[in-house]
Amino acid sequence: MTPGLIGPTRKVPSDIEVPEYAVRGYPATDSAENPVKDAETLERMRLAGQAARRVLRAVAAEVAPGVTTDHLDEVAHQASIDEGGYPSPLNYHGYPKSLCTSVNEVICHGIPDSRPLQEGDIVNCDVTLFVHGVHGDLSETFLVGEVDPVSRKLVEVTRECLYLGIDAVEPGEPVRRIGQAIQAHAEANGFGVVREFVGHGIGSTFHMPPNVPHFDDPRATMILEPGMTFTIEPMITVGNWRSQLWDDGWTATTVDLGRTAQFEHTLAVRSDGVEILTVTPEEPQPFLAGHDRRVWPSTLPTRAGVSVA
Ligand code: MN
Ligand code: MN
Repeated sequence: MTPGLIGPTRKVPSDIEVPEYAVRGYPATDSAENPVKDAETLERMRLAGQAARRVLRAVAAEVAPGVTTDHLDEVAHQASIDEGGYPSPLNYHGYPKSLCTSVNEVICHGIPDSRPLQEGDIVNCDVTLFVHGVHGDLSETFLVGEVDPVSRKLVEVTRECLYLGIDAVEPGEPVRRIGQAIQAHAEANGFGVVREFVGHGIGSTFHMPPNVPHFDDPRATMILEPGMTFTIEPMITVGNWRSQLWDDGWTATTVDLGRTAQFEHTLAVRSDGVEILTVTPEEPQPFLAGHDRRVWPSTLPTRAGVSVA
């Protein structure tokens, strides 16, 4: 991958409520938000998560060979506004776009640009939406037309890593369990786990404690408890898991330029399991009591008509 041209920053109508960093370009350092949310906040996060899922669905429907990632950004931006929300990446630490699009060897934080997607690419589209005063954050990796078998396997295993990580969430147990489950599954399939980027607490703050490593990290000692909200977003690699940055200061790639995939949901720990906040009500909730743990939400349909599940 080489950088394309980055278009102008998109505008948000003045009647949209914006997060505290939107004008200044960097978040307040004095946020003391509780990782454990009350019932009213959880309900707003449910609505934000559902809306973010619809935004990602709109983006997925445009993924096809010949489509630029800048077009995907335009779709994400407009769909966010149509939900009455603000695309959280925009001006977060100065980030110039409304969506992250990470193609092939790009691990995360790829900036949408003028490059058209090519048959055989894989592209992660990462949506975060700020609406009802809170963020909903999710991503999927899409197949662009027909993709080689190793890339296809990578995308499948990465999706499995996400849901196995969610399945490992247990009130009273440490966050560390999540990364243990993910690393075991990735390495059993011969793949690597990115260490540098981790899941995160989320609410009215985009990124906050706890850190959620996707590998077995003994520092991940925070105890999971009902009401906690955070993301799990494993980045899995075909080869070396170490990363490097492009000169743009954002785009992180594997050091060996091997391919990498990512899937993400925002979750809420409950006394009766773990709720996926970034799905719509008609989709499965496999990790709540009384539901089938083996039936996971499907990947979103793309215009290219190919998906892993
Ligand atoms: Mn995230
Ligand atoms: Mn994300």
